[in-house]
Amino acid sequence: APAELRELLLSKIADVPDYPQAGVVFKDITPLLADPDAFGKLTDALAGVCQEFGATKIVALEARGFILAAPVAVKAGVGFVPVRKAGKLPGATLGQSYALEYGHATIEIHADALAPGDRVLVIDDVLATGGTAEASLTLIRRSGAEVAGVAVLLELGFLDGREKLAAGLDGAPLEAL
Ligand code: AMP
Repeated sequence: APAELRELLLSKIADVPDYPQAGVVFKDITPLLADPDAFGKLTDALAGVCQEFGATKIVALEARGFILAAPVAVKAGVGFVPVRKAGKLPGATLGQSYALEYGHATIEIHADALAPGDRVLVIDDVLATGGTAEASLTLIRRSGAEVAGVAVLLELGFLDGREKLAAGLDGAPLEAL
């Protein structure tokens, strides 16, 4: 993102030390969401990424990804497809498990939400280890759709999520604003 936008966005993200557990610095985006100028500029920029990547659908990750991606889908004029934690979607689903620091988690997508010919942009707030985004890329490919790329507000570079996503992206771009 241009330096001016980057500074604005960073100024609206709060660091919360030791949340949700000791040693983790939680990136709190609620100040950004509460500022219509900053939130508007963020969603404009993400809609630009959506167009630049040639995406025809947006997949967003529960729950903060939903907040960012819904206005982006409307602005970009593309469909919004939710990926949710297991057991939340009412229709037939595809599920994907992935490793967490302790244990594992499962995310799901409606089995008929994507089809061959769809080019899908994944949107989330924070790219940390990349495990969640990688699992969503797997769901997109299992749905028969193509990965257009991944866009996040913030990338925690020291966790090497970008490297973890490389295989799943298979050459598709990753944009961290
Ligand atoms: P990961 O699968 O490790 O990339 O984690 C990604 C998910 O966890 C994202 O949906 C983020 O919203 C959330 N997350 C992970 N680490 C943080 C953090 N330090 N601050 C805020 N959210 C985080």
